[in-house]
Amino acid sequence: MARIIRKKILIKGVVQGVGFRPHVYKLALENQLSGWVRNDASGVTIEAQGRGSDLVLFINDLATRKPPASRIDSIKTSVLPILGGSDFAIVKSGGKAKAEARIPADLALCADCRRELMDPSDRRYLYPFINCTNCGPRFTIVKNIPYDRPLTTMKRFKMCPDCLAEYLDPLDRRFHAQPNACPVCGPRVSAVLNGRRFDGNNALELAAQYLSEGKIVALQSLGGFHLACDATNIAAVRRLRNLKDRPAKPFAIMFSALAEIAKFCLLSSPESSALESSAAPAVMLKKKYPAALGMVAPGLDTMAVMLAYTPLHCALFRLLRSEGFKSPLVMTSGNRRDEPISKDRAEAEVNLGPLVDLIVFHDREIHNRVDDSVGFFAADAFRLVRRARGWAPDSIRLLIPGGGSALGCGADLKSAFCLTRGKEAFLSQYIGDQTEYKNQVFYAETLAKTRALLKVSPALIAHDLHPDYYCSNYARSLKGVKVAVQHHVAHVLSVAAEHAVDVPFIGVALDGTGYGTDGHIWGSELFVIKGNTWRRSARLKYFALPGGDAAAREIWRPALSLLKAGLGEGWRREAGALFSGVEAGTLDTVEKLADKGLNAPLTSSMGRLFDAISFIAGLGTEATYEGQGPMELESLCVNPAARGYVFDMEKKDGVFIIDPAKAVIGALRERGPGRARAISEEFHGGLIVALVKAVSAISLETGITTVALSGGVFQNRTLLTLGMERLARAGFKVFANEKVPSNDGGIALGQVYYALKKFRHII
Ligand code: ZN
Ligand code: ZN
Ligand code: FE
Repeated sequence: MARIIRKKILIKGVVQGVGFRPHVYKLALENQLSGWVRNDASGVTIEAQGRGSDLVLFINDLATRKPPASRIDSIKTSVLPILGGSDFAIVKSGGKAKAEARIPADLALCADCRRELMDPSDRRYLYPFINCTNCGPRFTIVKNIPYDRPLTTMKRFKMCPDCLAEYLDPLDRRFHAQPNACPVCGPRVSAVLNGRRFDGNNALELAAQYLSEGKIVALQSLGGFHLACDATNIAAVRRLRNLKDRPAKPFAIMFSALAEIAKFCLLSSPESSALESSAAPAVMLKKKYPAALGMVAPGLDTMAVMLAYTPLHCALFRLLRSEGFKSPLVMTSGNRRDEPISKDRAEAEVNLGPLVDLIVFHDREIHNRVDDSVGFFAADAFRLVRRARGWAPDSIRLLIPGGGSALGCGADLKSAFCLTRGKEAFLSQYIGDQTEYKNQVFYAETLAKTRALLKVSPALIAHDLHPDYYCSNYARSLKGVKVAVQHHVAHVLSVAAEHAVDVPFIGVALDGTGYGTDGHIWGSELFVIKGNTWRRSARLKYFALPGGDAAAREIWRPALSLLKAGLGEGWRREAGALFSGVEAGTLDTVEKLADKGLNAPLTSSMGRLFDAISFIAGLGTEATYEGQGPMELESLCVNPAARGYVFDMEKKDGVFIIDPAKAVIGALRERGPGRARAISEEFHGGLIVALVKAVSAISLETGITTVALSGGVFQNRTLLTLGMERLARAGFKVFANEKVPSNDGGIALGQVYYALKKFRHII
């Protein structure tokens, strides 16, 4: 007789809420094993008993045939004494599991559900809420843990006998699929037009008709509303721009299939994989030709593209196609400028009603508001610029011994906070700018919800050094030990945190603005980071920002101060003509402000230097959205110059000072019709050379050969890709942000990391 063995198998990773236990159950039946499987604190625990050879096959299957949305980090086995019993069972999780249970992130429609959705003979044909254990809403509907239907917004829907049978059958794809539903028992879509109510697919058909006619529709999606219109209809997109008060900022576009995307964009295979992943982010893709969907991302060589990721979107595209309509749709966040995304019908009616021709809503309540995530592929990795749906509330593992909880409050722009529990860091979804009251409410609500879900109360509160940030003040109002962290130190530490860098490194932050320890506004900083200490070793030479905050919008202001610094008193002789678009009186006043240092803070901001160069290159005098000048300048850079403009470097009081004067003057002298591209290529090329030179100089002094790049300017793909390449070629080991944004959306992670490194002993 074959030898019978019993084994305990512990699996860690993303294995809860993704159909893992039914999968184990099926494999156990296939291999004729008895025993049980259950969720517990750290993952899934299995006890399996059967013939030794079957157990080997079973463990091999576990590792190789896992459910699509799962991720296995480790499998550990140990031998147990054999027991009686011949069944295999899925058993309830233990009490401890509740305390540390994970909330899974939302998952895009899976291939099986997609097939059923499009099958006229299926009972869920075109049903916009079809889902299974491999796909569907998760975080957006969770009210409390553990992740069980009564604790989600699906509580109010009672499953019909058919759905319940699926839910209870361990061999069914919908076994314990908490949001399981069908047209008989589940949520439905509705719309109201001129007092008449449309329900179910009548509402979706109305939406399809409106979209095909070039109208604007507010559509309740997974994490909130979208504003949708035909992306190829110039009049419709222009109207949406006017209504949203958004003249040029790029809109995200949704397509029904990869093949459709390939008509407008260049598409690499890792980009396709990212689009098709269960997180289904918007991916910034290079346009195939400059005029592709012209009104969608004017002046840029990329656009943010996603695939239809909910059954609602897929059903809508199907209905559109049956009307002969094949265009992609603008699918931008349903909010008023700078406000949070609307999440229910009442909010949508107030906020979006005046902007749209039709509101399509549904009754599966969105509990957690989440925007679409956005990222790009560069230097062999997918890199998020907005971390939200599909990532929240996943954690990032830290290289710090567990214990206690810390909170990083983030920055005021693109704010997000970070809560830690043991070694895990949970970065919140993208919240938005804290200059808006509604975002402040969203921030406080999300923090309260996340604390409750994680069951933590942070004793260490890290915040930005900026004295006037809303987030800093908010941090100071909380109980706990406060730790102020310099903005750019937090940026580069976010890289160290996500890549588990635990050796001394040179941190390079190229950024918009952040408050410095000398009271000036920092923004191009090279640090030496050792353990929990940091030293500023290089920076851009300071220049004045006349008008302070106004200088971020009116990009001629930093250009004025940089040109004057470069050319001296007679600057107007050579550069005065550039400012013909600026009212003469204003120009004089601003020059005086800069001269006298009145409301003209000093800065080393790389973002403002990019703004100035884009102004000099002729790309406009004002930015209508953050980063417009730099993004347009980057779009022109096809072949960055090998040497480019010269940046002089000198050492003063132990700090290398990088002087942009020659680059600014170089751009001025290059200026002319059709010369913007040359300016961009010379500037990018020169800046990369300067960076490598500065890093090398610091390395020569310190012997450090590891480098971390962060800050909003590293969303510039040319700078990031080429910077990493050249530094690697010079012998450095280089890291940059991937799972968290290099912009201020990632700063909270760096803040908690700093606080834990320095003050962990007190919590
Ligand atoms: Zn599915
Ligand atoms: Zn049902
Ligand atoms: Fe920043």
